[in-house]
Amino acid sequence: MKITEHIQNARGKTLFSFELIPPLKGHSIEGLYNAIDPLMEFKPPFIDVTSLREDFIYKQHESGLLEKVSYRKRPGTIAICAAIMNKYKVDTVPHLLCGGFTKVETEYALIDLQFLGIENVLVLRGDARLADSSFVPTPGGHCYATDLLAQVVNMNNGKYLHDETPENLKTDFCVGVAGYPEKHFEAPNLKTDFKYLKQKVDMGANFIVTQMFFDNQKYFEFVNNCRVNGINVPIIPGLKPITSPKQLVNLSKTFHIDMPEDLCDAINGCKNDKDAREVGIEWMINQCKELIEFGAPVLHFYTMSNAGPTRKIAEAIF
Ligand code: FAD
Repeated sequence: MKITEHIQNARGKTLFSFELIPPLKGHSIEGLYNAIDPLMEFKPPFIDVTSLREDFIYKQHESGLLEKVSYRKRPGTIAICAAIMNKYKVDTVPHLLCGGFTKVETEYALIDLQFLGIENVLVLRGDARLADSSFVPTPGGHCYATDLLAQVVNMNNGKYLHDETPENLKTDFCVGVAGYPEKHFEAPNLKTDFKYLKQKVDMGANFIVTQMFFDNQKYFEFVNNCRVNGINVPIIPGLKPITSPKQLVNLSKTFHIDMPEDLCDAINGCKNDKDAREVGIEWMINQCKELIEFGAPVLHFYTMSNAGPTRKIAEAIF
């Protein structure tokens, strides 16, 4: 079922969902199932699976020469989505990226998804490779999420890259895009960022999932701004409980988000990591209560494939 249908069917009740990251190459899918099992009793209607583009590693040869090798650390997004869907009978949402994929590869991925019965996708530009200082598009691929979105919308209209078949079956994907309550870090200002978000929705995006935030006011303002700007699709808040003092800096640095002073004081005042984790969970429980009151359609957790903290929050909320 489409994410938008799940939200409609819930008739205003806030749903629970979460995101997983694929296992490292060479690891089994069992670890992922261990991250899913404790959360299934909260009846997520869908589970997201992230995608990671290739990066470069340097392999040293006996001669001492270094060889630059392209390497995907966490492959398997589509296969994992299919496996989860079959095992748990829930919808899955694969993340589709511009970076790391040509348009042709994307078309084949979308054909695979349709055959598998996966109806939802989240389209994203993708992060920069660690080896690059900023995002570098893949030759033959897309530069922005808007370009990738256009490809999915085209297929939903029966328009493939090369119109060589007479039938060109229309796909029917429900498409999500990313939104940033605190602005995407490359956007010169919030207004410009909104312009592109609006463009994505006008092009056919059906829902928005936000970057994580720790101050609900940022989400409330973002939603209100979207509504004022004519963006009327569901806006799903992305949430991540802090589980250690180190994360105050690391999450802030990685995701370009602010940490509220009160949260920093409370976490830094803890005697150990265990206490800090409890404070982080408590903070998120309070955020969730407010978000439900505000009418958030879904509470979507970035579990980073660790179910523990999310389970504690879900026990308190759902
Ligand atoms: P875009 O919408 O393309 O925006 C990128 C920047 O360009 C923004 O500053 C925007 O204002 C600007 N812009 C947008 N369109 C245009 C245009 N047409 N012309 C000029 N400028 C434009 N990363 C991964 O690698 N894998 C994942 O699985 C993943 N999952 C994510 C899930 C969520 C919910 C979120 C919020 C982020 C996720 N990311 C993931 C991170 C994301 O890929 C990065 O934040 C990336 O830097 C931007 O992606 P985007 O889709 O928002 O890009």
